[in-house]
Amino acid sequence: MFQAFQAHLANELAQIKDASSYKTERILHSPQSAHVALGPGSRGPGVREAEDREAGTRAPGDSGEVLNLCANNYLGLANHSALVQAAKEGLDRWGFGLSSVRFICGTQDVHKQLEGTISRFMGYEDTILFGSCFDANGALFEAILGPEDAVLSDALNHASIIDGIRLSKAQRFRYAHSDMADLEVKLKEASGARHRLVFTDGVFSMDGDVAKLDQICDLAERYDAIVGVDDCHATGVLGKTGRGSGEAKGVRERIAVVTGTLGKALGGASGGYVTGRREIVEILRQRGRPYLFSNALMPAIAHASIEAFRLVDESPALLDTLRENAAAFRAGLTQAGFRIPPGETPIVPILIGDAGKTQAMAEAMLDEGIYVIGFSYPVVPVGQDRIRTQMSAAHTKADLDRAIDAFARVGTQIGVIG
Ligand SMILES: *Cc1c(COP(=O)(O)O)cnc(C)c1O
Repeated sequence: MFQAFQAHLANELAQIKDASSYKTERILHSPQSAHVALGPGSRGPGVREAEDREAGTRAPGDSGEVLNLCANNYLGLANHSALVQAAKEGLDRWGFGLSSVRFICGTQDVHKQLEGTISRFMGYEDTILFGSCFDANGALFEAILGPEDAVLSDALNHASIIDGIRLSKAQRFRYAHSDMADLEVKLKEASGARHRLVFTDGVFSMDGDVAKLDQICDLAERYDAIVGVDDCHATGVLGKTGRGSGEAKGVRERIAVVTGTLGKALGGASGGYVTGRREIVEILRQRGRPYLFSNALMPAIAHASIEAFRLVDESPALLDTLRENAAAFRAGLTQAGFRIPPGETPIVPILIGDAGKTQAMAEAMLDEGIYVIGFSYPVVPVGQDRIRTQMSAAHTKADLDRAIDAFARVGTQIGVIG
C-alpha cells in the first residue's frame, strides 16, 4: 500500500537535494557553549568521514572542539552553572513532568511564579506560558481576532507568525519589510475593519535589523491600530536592561502584546510566552489552542528560567560583553574587507552573494575549527547568500580575533575578499 506514496516522497526528497536545500544536522557531543565538540556524523551523511578514515586522515572540523558562531546563546546561559543547578533543584522539588495541560491539572506554583517573573521583567500586566514561541504565535491571532478584524504583518516576519495568522480568520495585509510608507497604505486599506493589529518581529533574524517600532507605534496610533511584537531575538539582548526592542526604541508601554521564547538568550532550553495586556492573556487562557491542548512546560525549565531572568538583571556585565563582542566583530570583519550590513544586534551577517562560495566558506571555516552556517535561497533572497554569525557573551576577545583571522584567510582563498 505504501509503495506509490513512498516513490512520491523519494521524488520530493530528490528535488530538495537537487535544489541544494537539503539540510543535514551536525551532531554535538557536548553542551551548547562558545566551544562545542563535533563528533563523527557531524558532516551529515558520513561519506567524507568514511573516506577520511580510509585515508587515515580526518579533517580537523570532524571531531574535537570548534568555536561556535551559530547559536542563539546570546548571553552564554545555555550551560551556565546557576541554571544547571536551578534545573536540578527544580527536578527535586517539582518532579519530572506534569502529564497534563495547564487547565486540567498541569499548573504548579512554579508556572505561576515564572509568569509573574516575566510580567515584572517585561513591565506588562500578565503573562501566559506555552511549550514554545512557535506555539505562542500559533495561539495568539486566532484567539484574539475575528473575520471583522485585520492583521498587518511585516513581509519578513518569522514563519510562526505567518502560520499563526493563517490559522486566524482575520483579514490579512502584508507590508513590505520595515517600509513605513507601505504600512501606512495598508493601514488605510484596513480602515474598514473592526480592529487592526500591526505585528512584527522585534529583530529580524537573517539581517539582524531592528523593527522601526517608534514609527510603527506613531502610525498605529494615527490609524487606530494596536501593536504586537515577537521579541525572540531581542529579549535579554536589546535595550539598556535587556527588555528587548520596545526598550531599545523607547516604546515599551505603547505595545499591547509581546511574544517571546525561553529557547534563545534566556537559557535556551524551550518554552514560549505571551505577555502584555491583561485581557489578551485572559482570552488566550480560554481560547489559545496550543495552551488548551498541549502539555504544560516542564517544571524544571520553569524554575531555571526564573533564574535566567534574575541573571539578566543581576549581571549587566553579560549584556555589556555581548555588545562589546558584537561591535568588535563587526569592526574586525569590516576592516578585513567583508560586506557587513550596519547593525546594533549580535546577529552579524557576512554577505557573499553566491551560493557556491557561501557553502565553500562554511566548510573551509569548519576545517579552521570554526563552526558557521551559510544561508542561501530560499532562506534568503537570491543573490543575498550569506554566512550568518551570532555573538555570545561567552565568546572571549581571543575567540573573536581567531575567527576574524580565519575569515580573512579563507575569504581571500575563496575570493570573497580581494
Ligand atoms: C526562534 C523564533 C521563534 C520560535 O521560538 P521557539 O520557542 O523556538 O518555538 C518564533 N519567532 C521568532 C521571531 C524566532 O526567532
